[in-house]
Amino acid sequence: MRMLSFIAFFLFSLTLAAGEKELWRAVIPPYLLRDAAPVLTTLDVVSVTEEEGDTVLYIWETAQRAALLADTARSLTTRQLLLDGSPAYRTLDEMIAALYAVEQKIPDRAKIYTIGKSVEGRDILALKISTSPAENLPEKPEIVFVGLHHAREWISGEVTLRIAEFLADHVADMPRIGSIVAATELWFIPVINPDGYLYTHTTDRMWRHNRRPNGDGSFGVDLNRNYDAAWVENGTAHGAGPFSEPETRALRDLVVTPDGGTALTDGARGLISYHSFSQFLLYPWSSLSAPAPTATLMRATADKMVDLILSVDGAAYIAKQAYELYAGPINGECGEWFYNATGQATAFLIELRPAATDDTAFALDPLFIEPTAQENIAAALYFVESIIYDSVDIDTDVNNNGIADYLEVPDALLEEPDETVEEPEEDMIEEADILAPDTADPLPDTDTRPAPHPGSDGCLLTVI
Ligand SMILES: [Zn+2]
Repeated sequence: MRMLSFIAFFLFSLTLAAGEKELWRAVIPPYLLRDAAPVLTTLDVVSVTEEEGDTVLYIWETAQRAALLADTARSLTTRQLLLDGSPAYRTLDEMIAALYAVEQKIPDRAKIYTIGKSVEGRDILALKISTSPAENLPEKPEIVFVGLHHAREWISGEVTLRIAEFLADHVADMPRIGSIVAATELWFIPVINPDGYLYTHTTDRMWRHNRRPNGDGSFGVDLNRNYDAAWVENGTAHGAGPFSEPETRALRDLVVTPDGGTALTDGARGLISYHSFSQFLLYPWSSLSAPAPTATLMRATADKMVDLILSVDGAAYIAKQAYELYAGPINGECGEWFYNATGQATAFLIELRPAATDDTAFALDPLFIEPTAQENIAAALYFVESIIYDSVDIDTDVNNNGIADYLEVPDALLEEPDETVEEPEEDMIEEADILAPDTADPLPDTDTRPAPHPGSDGCLLTVI
């Protein structure tokens, strides 16, 4: 979260002995830059960039010398100086409060719905962003973002929430974001597994499932194996049957209502389910090796998203069919269920950072929350636009840091507010264009990273 009017420091969570150099981040607003300059010349500055008018410095220094910058600046200004804590993951209560803060920030365009209750009775909250969030507008495509199926994958909740926060922050001042909100109904469920998420904060950081008492003294069902998509029994890990868990039923009932009643949506057109880790962008099918009917379109969309993500901060994600993740079927998976239930609307499962392959990677350093969110905001907005305009050929300047298309307000856009995304020409959505190979693809064709190792819960395919 960006701090205005303060110098903020973020201590990277490197474990270093006292007195050793650490990496610090300082955000200096323009009015403090001159006062701070003499101190800066004595410090080991790694990089200097500018963010929305502020100067952002990374300095490689001991804590004492980093504090020198703070002390000097304090002595030179009457303004308050804060030493911000390390960036941190938000707790369940903080996530809920942040969701309500979005609703409060744009009350005409955001509304929170309780779409179900967890096993332990906690509300499962969905934030809807739309020009008329209390109504269901049948002419507008609905797109769903969901995080924290797996409780320990904390970054997945942050990313889901931060996309919503980005929209709220910029719906008024960025024409492109205004156009997206005007054309869609967007749903955000940052914490679909509130019981499990709370448990990872209170008791067991590596808890994955919900908190279902299984009757044999054990707890927990793997929610991303509990959907009605080639569901298979696996002890108690996949639940007593498809949609046995209230958490998965909450998402089901948001998207389709099995008894013919009215769902909150009227035909969702896209879904992204966030997980971690390993940096993959996966598309159906997950239980079958055969390509899904719209595999070509989904792959073309995924490839563009991967390029966009790479352009933001250099993180290489890899697109592939979900079945290929473990070279075997994933049963009961959310994306496959959504794809089948909606008549083949695109569903992505994005495995977020890091690319590492051991269990410590679930605890992604909070230092990487922001860049992971930024790159995925860019990809998510592209995904939404690809649905709005029914084309993969959205104008994003991937080769020149495509995030700028979304995360900054280009001067030209301010001067000419009509220059938002243009409706693609008819010929842009010809299949030949969609199938055209991207010769500039900078990513490797094959993934050389080792496959994640099986979990210890007796369920081979429940790792990430
Ligand atoms: Zn997961």
